[in-house]
Amino acid sequence: MIPRRRIPLRAGDLWAGAASLWPTPVPPSGTGVVADFEAAFAKYFGVTHALATASGRDALLLILDALQLAPGDEVIIPAYTLGELLPLMLARGLQLVPADIDPTTFNITPASVAGCLTPRTRAILAVHLLGAPCAIGEIVALGAARGIPVIEDCAHAPGARVGGRPVGSFGRAALFSLEATKAVSAYGGGVLATNDAALAAHARAALAGRVPSHGALRKAAFKWLEECGVRSPLYGPLARLLFAERNAGRFEAFYRRAHSRLRGEAAAPAAFGAFQARLALRGLGELDARHARLNACWDELAARLPDRFRRQRRDAEGEPAFYNFVARFSGDVRALRRAAHRRGLDLAIGSEVMDDTARLLGREDCPGAAAVSADAVLIPLYDGIGRRRFETMVSTLHALARELP
Ligand SMILES: *Cc1c(COP(=O)(O)O)cnc(C)c1O
Repeated sequence: MIPRRRIPLRAGDLWAGAASLWPTPVPPSGTGVVADFEAAFAKYFGVTHALATASGRDALLLILDALQLAPGDEVIIPAYTLGELLPLMLARGLQLVPADIDPTTFNITPASVAGCLTPRTRAILAVHLLGAPCAIGEIVALGAARGIPVIEDCAHAPGARVGGRPVGSFGRAALFSLEATKAVSAYGGGVLATNDAALAAHARAALAGRVPSHGALRKAAFKWLEECGVRSPLYGPLARLLFAERNAGRFEAFYRRAHSRLRGEAAAPAAFGAFQARLALRGLGELDARHARLNACWDELAARLPDRFRRQRRDAEGEPAFYNFVARFSGDVRALRRAAHRRGLDLAIGSEVMDDTARLLGREDCPGAAAVSADAVLIPLYDGIGRRRFETMVSTLHALARELP
């Protein structure tokens, strides 16, 4: 089975993990490898402040706190993004207003955001979905005219650019994720980036009391085990079972819960540690080459896709970063997945791709998000997929497109 995604297994990660078990004195604040990573990150993204956090979600919460949003305040969010962000914001009493997406780019638009503005709007969360930059300049201008800050969710898009400038430097503040499946992996972690000195100082003060833990190391161990499973011959039968019609929803929910338990940060997020900083520094250094390599694969797959698949339009607003390959399928995506599994190709569909947050909020006023979440298909594309598997996959997709009603 060609798995839906893979993460790199690198011996260097093991060594970095082992080295981090060796007790070393904590360097004075502003020095050491974590500070080096923060400085390198700020330089790459052209921002004055980069703060390493426990996760992307943690960075988002630190931003919300620094903006001093209060219960009842309205926050405009994308109607198609990671659903797990919702409970975090709802727990702070915020009123979430989903802005619909363009069904070709999968991103919110200036028009959809404008339609959600009310006198109670206090922030706009804009995501650059699946590595495709959104119209961030116009959205920031829209907010600025009313004094509303824009938070950029760059979890999928570190390295994407608009007008040559990296995303993450446009809004009041940005969040990045260093999750194992994201472009720069530290087996968990995040970054808060901003040009706003007061916001940075507020977040820095909140981070100051945290203590390091071995959480990232524990997570790395689990991820390695999981990855060995993904690469083993067991993966095929297991994927067919767990993603069978009657199990897929429950398995997806279980997997998300297990992961959030593994992160174990909800109660007390840990300080970003030296192990994470070493991996993240390396990932940052490799980011441009990674995008060049994988964007070339993305373009080739897009060009060779059968007509029944419509790829995401990633370059409407700028240069995309590589995240995942997602296309819309005209036909029954469940039947497509079943047939693909029989042929040894693991496709993700529905909430395994992204969430329709409007629907999660009980609303039915975002037809773009509803349409995309109904027929989006994640097609495997990752570092190390190899020429043979790539060719097999392309011919399998063509066969499926011919055969399915
Ligand atoms: C992964 C992700 C995040 C949060 O990152 P974590 O590090 O997992 O907390 C935020 N937004 C989107 C769209 C994501 O995919």
